[in-house]
Amino acid sequence: MTAVTVLGQGPMGRALTAALLDAGYRTTVWNRTEANAREMLARGAIWAPSPAEAVAAGGVTLINVVDHDVVDAVLETAGRALAGATVIGLSSDTPDRARQTAELVDGLGGRYLDGAIMTPTDTIGTPDARILLAGPQAVYDTYHPVLDALGTSTWLGEDPGRAAAFDMSLLDLFWTAVSGFEHALMMAAANGIAPRELLPHALGIVDILAPVFIEIAERIEEDRHDDASAPVSSTAASVRHLVNASRDAGVDAGALEAFSGYVDAAVAAGHGADEISRITAEMVQPAAGSPTRKFRWQHV
Ligand code: NDP
Repeated sequence: MTAVTVLGQGPMGRALTAALLDAGYRTTVWNRTEANAREMLARGAIWAPSPAEAVAAGGVTLINVVDHDVVDAVLETAGRALAGATVIGLSSDTPDRARQTAELVDGLGGRYLDGAIMTPTDTIGTPDARILLAGPQAVYDTYHPVLDALGTSTWLGEDPGRAAAFDMSLLDLFWTAVSGFEHALMMAAANGIAPRELLPHALGIVDILAPVFIEIAERIEEDRHDDASAPVSSTAASVRHLVNASRDAGVDAGALEAFSGYVDAAVAAGHGADEISRITAEMVQPAAGSPTRKFRWQHV
């Protein structure tokens, strides 16, 4: 059984360490603040006084700290200890930051697989934990058993930015949905409706979103926006009413105004009769020097 090092002992780093110890892995840990590692040391983890000594102790090094600025700083501190080492990054950040970390580790002579943890700490060590990985498939295949001890993992491709790209896209959906729900509660509240009164109706909206997502995804991928069941023009009117209702309620309408701007731009571009999937084109800035908006997956 390979030895494992975990750099970072925040709530998630401790959950990862606990799962590895439970699975029987010899686990070495390092953390900026030693006191935060005490719980895992009491459970059998081995303390390393520096990132370099921690990396040297392990067959594979997991790093889980707040973001990739800290990831890079910690790995740079480990320096030459990374030559020949394998690092699996499990911190959340942008796709470009993940790619930069991969370059840093490559430059130091190591191998880097980037990961995004999609579920909370209490899932770690159970199949309910979802971890997305990207980078060299050979590294993923080699350390699959270690990842299995943490949860259910999925490898997404060789580009080390790909797991972070999934992470960011899904967090985009999550936080805009949470923001939309909280905004709706404030609009309701301004009209005398209590959150728990609105809730069952809000959950009804959640139920109808799945088929809407499927239709939009298919239409965008096929670049097919005609034969509309939800035309852009009627969405424009509906969102305008929402902006007005929000202002009347004294609730900030900024997010709705931004969406209204995309819808109005689609109408102005002559797409009023098209399906709402057409609105996405107004969100994307054309690449410098290009007259059209192209998606990267259209080239692959
Ligand atoms: P944090 O995001 O707060 O990260 C805490 C860890 O980062 C600690 O080990 C902390 O060290 C370290 N750290 C912060 N700043 C520095 C620094 N300047 N130098 C060295 N180390 C530093 O908490 P989590 O453990 O919850 O999250 C870790 C990562 O996991 C994040 O990227 C997060 O997005 C991701 N994640 C977390 C989930 C969760 O449910 N918690 C779910 C999914 C992903 P110290 O103890 O010394 O402060």
